[in-house]
Amino acid sequence: MGYSMPTHLDDALSALARHGDARIVAGGTDFFPALGEGPAPQTLIDVTRIDGLRGIAQTAEGWRIGAATSWSDILRAPLPPCFDALRAAAREVGSVQIQNSGTVAGNLCNASPAADGVPPLLALEAEVEIAGPAQTRRLPLSKFLLGVRKTALQKGEIVTAVHVPTQPDGMVSAFRKLGSRRYLVISIVMVAANLWAREGRIAGARVTVGAASPVAQRLPALEAALVGRPVNDPGLTRPEHLAPLSPIADVRGSAEYRQEAVTELCDRAIRQALAHV
Ligand SMILES: Cc1cc2nc3c(=O)[nH]c(=O)nc-3n(C[C@H](O)[C@H](O)[C@H](O)COP(=O)(O)OP(=O)(O)OC[C@H]3O[C@@H](n4cnc5c(N)ncnc54)[C@H](O)[C@@H]3O)c2cc1C
Repeated sequence: MGYSMPTHLDDALSALARHGDARIVAGGTDFFPALGEGPAPQTLIDVTRIDGLRGIAQTAEGWRIGAATSWSDILRAPLPPCFDALRAAAREVGSVQIQNSGTVAGNLCNASPAADGVPPLLALEAEVEIAGPAQTRRLPLSKFLLGVRKTALQKGEIVTAVHVPTQPDGMVSAFRKLGSRRYLVISIVMVAANLWAREGRIAGARVTVGAASPVAQRLPALEAALVGRPVNDPGLTRPEHLAPLSPIADVRGSAEYRQEAVTELCDRAIRQALAHV
């Protein structure tokens, strides 16, 4: 098995083009467990040493999170309250060792329905920056994730960053995750709630749910119902608000359990976020 650690993006893209069977690896915390007993790929391209791929920078249009930024980097960064949900999700990804190695882009590219980073980034309306042999393009995260383990990434492309646009003034956010135990656990369901208020009333809301559909979903009916409600009385999540979800039954819980858990988690996340308005 060949293992290359390019420091320039062009070298990584050339190596990908040269070795048709090459696979990208970052922290390896999804990649290596998924290999199991199967054959190792001929060529691995480690993207964590590429210049400019790690770290968080504030830009004129918001924030740029380099693809190889780890969950621990997110936890240490001085980010405003609109990132509280993402920070809380970072704290929930595996253990400290996993947070030190696991990257934001790895979480997105793995495209697990239970990826904890996805709901907070969807609620921030994040975009994924993708470099390819011919061009660099950007896709909204909602268009990048196509299904279970399916993304819009084409052969020969590398995710280089996640862009978070400037958020409405005063946005607060919260993340709630349900697992079968408190730590080191795959989500049964998780919710991110991002809200902002004007003169005591909710002016805007984005609520996203993971692990209750092939790809995490926003809940537009719930978001609409929240707008205009008093901050101290946001109302309750109702079954009709959950229409975009299609929870399944698996070893972690039944579909009915997931549906009930989402309802409760939405209410808790919304109230937790609003406590900081
Ligand atoms: C013990 C354990 C506990 C875990 N707990 C959680 C948890 O609680 N919540 C959670 O969400 N996840 C969890 N995970 C999964 C994993 O840690 C995260 O998804 C992590 O963010 C993956 O990042 P990585 O850098 O390790 O990805 P890798 O394993 O390196 O890569 C994952 C996939 O993304 C691709 N990839 C990586 N970077 C790029 C890039 N820049 N461009 C294109 N493709 C790329 C790789 O080719 C691979 O297909 C856990 C894993 C373990 C082993």
